[in-house]
Amino acid sequence: PLVYEAIGLKKDYDGGQVQALRGVSFQVKAGEFVAITGPSGCGKSTLLQMLGALDRPAAGTLNYRGQSLPDAADPAAYRAHEIGFIFQAFHLLPTYTAVENVQIPMFEGKLSLKERRDRGVELLQQVGLGHRVHHFPGKLSGGERQRVAIARSLANRPSVLLADEPTGNLDSHNAAQVLDLLVKLHEEQKMTLVMVTHDLGIARLATRTILMKDGQVVSDGALPPVTPAQ
Ligand code: ADP
Ligand code: ADP
Repeated sequence: PLVYEAIGLKKDYDGGQVQALRGVSFQVKAGEFVAITGPSGCGKSTLLQMLGALDRPAAGTLNYRGQSLPDAADPAAYRAHEIGFIFQAFHLLPTYTAVENVQIPMFEGKLSLKERRDRGVELLQQVGLGHRVHHFPGKLSGGERQRVAIARSLANRPSVLLADEPTGNLDSHNAAQVLDLLVKLHEEQKMTLVMVTHDLGIARLATRTILMKDGQVVSDGALPPVTPAQ
């Protein structure tokens, strides 16, 4: 089944001076790991914000499981229950411990205090941070902070993860750990994963890569092989 279907998405900024998206079309099927790549300014983040219902297209069709996302009755409910968002900057609350940060999305729900706490610990164990439950973000490495953010993104059992340059602030060792975790969530839990990255090496981990340039899709499928230097 199709998770996303985008047809002819357009988005301008600054009264039309910047054409961030100029007719973008693609599909994402359930369980796919899709990378969106391309040079800085090509419209990757703008597109991801639309998939996350944080912004709406000026023109075009964007469906989530067959229903128009821009016309959704309750975009906040979509963001809270259908998707998990992972950002380059981890956006953890510094005065909350790891397990408290993970519980933030569950505050609105029906879980008891104990159920919330147990689920928070379980999610931290799942991302390999069972030994960091009561640490504050300031005491964690960058990779550990991003793994806390990933645990938080899973709190309400989303069916889709949207990640915007999730390793952009990490050194290569921590980046590899975070990427391993995302690949594991995709492979073992069948999460649908859409990841924006300008790093072609990371894009190659995906099952499919959408390459953008100047607000348009220039290829969709496998990335062209690296040409050996002459
Ligand atoms: P990418 O994520 O690929 O770097 P973006 O989607 O962030 O690209 O940006 C696409 C284009 O739209 C760029 O030219 C960028 O400067 C512009 N842009 C993005 N957001 C805004 C905004 N809020 N206001 C004005 N221009 C923006
Ligand atoms: P990324 O690193 O993901 O490409 P950017 O640094 O391009 O993100 O953008 C970060 C935020 O700033 C986004 O919310 C984007 O919409 C906004 N933004 C990007 N370019 C511009 C711009 N030219 N004017 C105003 N806001 C912008």
